[in-house]
Amino acid sequence: MHERARERFLTLAGRRVALPDPDDAFAWRILAEYGAVFVTMATPPPRIVFESPDAVDRFQEAVGRAEALFDGVPVVLQRPALAALLGAVDEARSLGLRVAPRGADAAARSWGDSEALWRGRVERACDHWNGCGLLSAAQAALLRGLGTTEQAAAVLDLERDGIWFSTYFDKSILHSVAAPGTSQHLSMLAFDVEDFANAELRGVLARHGWFQTVVSDLPHFTFLGHAEAELPDLGLRREVMDVSGEAYAFWVPAL
Ligand SMILES: [Zn+2]
Repeated sequence: MHERARERFLTLAGRRVALPDPDDAFAWRILAEYGAVFVTMATPPPRIVFESPDAVDRFQEAVGRAEALFDGVPVVLQRPALAALLGAVDEARSLGLRVAPRGADAAARSWGDSEALWRGRVERACDHWNGCGLLSAAQAALLRGLGTTEQAAAVLDLERDGIWFSTYFDKSILHSVAAPGTSQHLSMLAFDVEDFANAELRGVLARHGWFQTVVSDLPHFTFLGHAEAELPDLGLRREVMDVSGEAYAFWVPAL
């Protein structure tokens, strides 16, 4: 069953993006962690990893940036993603709930925004692991000086030894902030929700095609646009995670 879902996901995603070379471990990892976005009803990113700030700008311009104000905060997304989110806002309001952005950068981001978040996380982790004696000053300096793609690959290598780069140094950085060029926020298909812990609100978002698709990134929702019942047929599988007694369901590629 799982094998068939895997084939289905790869066939579907492969129609929309060039699948990575077999030996490109980084791209396969990104596809496994963030690849649900490739079954979106809107426009998926053109590549697994955007290659440059220009590539992000060109994609965002070609697809078109749609904007709405949420209590004065501008929210920019692809048009179908924003329309669905506004549908969720209305339904939530009728239930006495609120779909509010989590911060000023909850929706679309530029390469620069995304890279700054990543670099900040890497800097903190370098300090932390250097302080613990698990990363020498020379190693930390080397890591800091790497270009973005090489740095991302090096960070994931260190994580295989339990040197984690997330906010609390307890899990992969990919569940906390995206590597440069890989964020679903660059594709304008992601929205970070303030009240993510409210199960009823998560249900409203799901009914409007917005799902959690990055394991353990709790505020992060992705516009897939499909009914939840259709997701297994698209090659996604449901991963449930318990956080402080609350069960969260993430839809991830069945890879
Ligand atoms: Zn996010």
